[in-house]
Amino acid sequence: MMKKKIEKKCDVCGNIVKTTEYGGGKCKKCGWIDDPHQREYPDCTNCGNLISLNKAKIFWSEGKKFFPDYGEFIDMMKRGFEFEFKMRNKTYNIAFYDDKHWGFYCYETDETQLFESVNAFDETATVDGVPLRDCWQDLTYIDYD
Ligand SMILES: [Zn+2]
Repeated sequence: MMKKKIEKKCDVCGNIVKTTEYGGGKCKKCGWIDDPHQREYPDCTNCGNLISLNKAKIFWSEGKKFFPDYGEFIDMMKRGFEFEFKMRNKTYNIAFYDDKHWGFYCYETDETQLFESVNAFDETATVDGVPLRDCWQDLTYIDYD
């Protein structure tokens, strides 16, 4: 399918963004990824972006990064999404594999934590020995894997 480039105003900050009629263009000013679905359903999460359009507008006005909170992140895992994120100068990967386990891998230490379920991950995943839920505010980057 031919994806013709168009220019439109970013739904979050109003900056001009190059995108297509199907979305996908990333705003150079605020980082929002143009998404027609989220434009139509501004409270929808886990589309092109990890947070809803309405939340992104609030975060932008408050100078916050477009990161989901810990509960939203766990909800997305429960729906099968896999992630990569950075925290405390380390990069982590979360992936479902062998049809049974969630793997939580750290690139720098080569350490993998395995979990039988998202609930187990939620309750016991740690970063530097600290429960992930307690250091979620230290997040510096997150995206779908
Ligand atoms: Zn923008």
